[in-house]
Amino acid sequence: MTTVAEAWTLISERVPARPVETVAIDDAVDRILAERILAERDQPPFDRVTMDGIAVSSAAWAVGRRSFSIAAVQAAGQAATTCPSGDACIRVMTGAVRPEGTDAVIPIERLRIDGDIAHVDDEATVEPGRFIHAQGSDRREADVVLEPGERIGPAEIAVLASAGRARVATTRPAAVAVISTGDELVAVDAPEIAPHQIRSSNDLAVAASLRRAHLADCSRTTLPDDPDVILESVEALHAENDILILSGGVSMGEFDFVPAVLEQLRAEVVFHRIEQKPGKPMWFGLSGEGKPIFALPGNPVSTLLCMTRYVVPVLRQASGLRPTPPEYARLSADVTGPKHLTYFVPVLLGWSDDGIEFAEPRPTNTSGDFSSLAATDGFIELGSGVGTHPAGTIGRIFRW
Ligand code: AMP
Ligand code: MG
Repeated sequence: MTTVAEAWTLISERVPARPVETVAIDDAVDRILAERILAERDQPPFDRVTMDGIAVSSAAWAVGRRSFSIAAVQAAGQAATTCPSGDACIRVMTGAVRPEGTDAVIPIERLRIDGDIAHVDDEATVEPGRFIHAQGSDRREADVVLEPGERIGPAEIAVLASAGRARVATTRPAAVAVISTGDELVAVDAPEIAPHQIRSSNDLAVAASLRRAHLADCSRTTLPDDPDVILESVEALHAENDILILSGGVSMGEFDFVPAVLEQLRAEVVFHRIEQKPGKPMWFGLSGEGKPIFALPGNPVSTLLCMTRYVVPVLRQASGLRPTPPEYARLSADVTGPKHLTYFVPVLLGWSDDGIEFAEPRPTNTSGDFSSLAATDGFIELGSGVGTHPAGTIGRIFRW
């Protein structure tokens, strides 16, 4: 059987990088940047006034001048005017260009304006560059302002806009078919449900996991435990999608047709079964065209865990997203699990008084007990070879 570490390596080596696509800046939000962005101009592009007030010569102030005659008014968006002499000033607004002949701004709060004369109070501080955001002090023209791999959020959008980038190269989200199998499954909105049926939740949970990661566009399909129907649908969905994620039908039961059907489609089996609890029956392979296929066990805890441990991380990697360091936490209580399997336990995360992250275990009754997952933050990964993991054990955290 494959270990958790081997399974991750096998998956991460086989899921191909996503293609790059150029989109309008408005459509780039939450996508992953796929090019290096350079500053279009110096940032700021001119000496920018940062306060409403008057622009003066600090040399005139230094020799004792405290009243200045107002020679002109200059707002943001106007070309620079020139201050005629040291005893004059220019009324300026935030965002205006520093007028020629001035090198400091005195804010309006320090002034008393009397007709054409601005009188400055004693609390003003006037020195070269005061309240002026110097040209190029943030970035120089052609400096790198963004590297590829960044998730595009509001701050990155502002930087792209200032660089004049109306269109930007990003990685294209994967088209993913989410397929649930099971004769017992009934849609969330079905008005009637028989005692022997259950509502299908995996397809919606898997889609939610993908949507939250902003790395895929997905469709959902529910199929019966009928190998012919599964074969036909999977073939059609494979043609239209980049990645398939199935749930259910991968164990050893008489109606677990998924692995056999996938092999009939000439998919290459990379592994079937991982030394882990829950989620042991997980299957991973590549279609004849090299498209990744994940077949996850149907138990809802197993499905979500395998999504969070393998599928979402590999989509992040394939998108070129800048890797973030792994997160670890300390168990706040003993946990007993299977000795020879990696054990994944749902947890609530918190911070102790000394600033160490701790994980409060919230074990589920079985891998079918998804009710207990709600309101947990994720799970902790506990290595095999140990039956009881004592409080204080440090484990890797994966958030839902
Ligand atoms: P299976 O992997 O098909 O053996 O299913 C294992 C358990 O998970 C069974 O109790 C199924 O009813 C349940 N299950 C399978 N698919 C889903 C689904 N889409 N939503 C909720 N439960 C499911
Ligand atoms: Mg089933």
